[in-house]
Amino acid sequence: MNQPAINFRNFIRDIPGFPKPGITFKDITPLLANGEAFAACVSELSCFIDDDVDFIVGIESRGFLFGAALAQLTGLGFIPVRKPGKLPADIHGIDYELEYGMDRLEIHRDSLSENHKVIIIDDLLATGGTAEATVNLVKQLGATVSACLFVIELEFLKGRKRLEGIPIHHILNY
Ligand code: AMP
Repeated sequence: MNQPAINFRNFIRDIPGFPKPGITFKDITPLLANGEAFAACVSELSCFIDDDVDFIVGIESRGFLFGAALAQLTGLGFIPVRKPGKLPADIHGIDYELEYGMDRLEIHRDSLSENHKVIIIDDLLATGGTAEATVNLVKQLGATVSACLFVIELEFLKGRKRLEGIPIHHILNY
């Protein structure tokens, strides 16, 4: 007999006012803490990966948790996109705008090149600035983005508008 589908919504905890007033933080730690739910979530994410994909690109830091698990499940390699000053070798960086101020993401310059096709993954799509910057990093190294995957999409923030032309998939939307 088939197992009943897991309701992933039961494993996402809302934390109002974190990290600042007005924001409701979507806490994925209950999902990570449940082995069955975490594995099922990663398995569902893997269904969005085409056969011609070469690498999983994960965004620091919660994108690493899902991205590394996804890489292990699929047998693909994992490439980290990190906050400034963390990667040790020659890096390519991009500055991007936040709601208030600027931020920066970096990737190892030799991690990708032309002919590579990647999946980008993060835990959550909000305004899309982080994912857009990562798409640009990957493209600037000559590689192609097959799709962007998120465990959660906050649809009301319309982040996917900043990722036009790229397939976007989520497990849960709010
Ligand atoms: P954005 O660039 O606005 O799409 O924000 C996406 C990044 O910020 C992701 O790495 C998320 O982990 C984090 N983030 C933004 N909003 C939230 C939220 N409400 N709950 C949890 N993480 C968030």
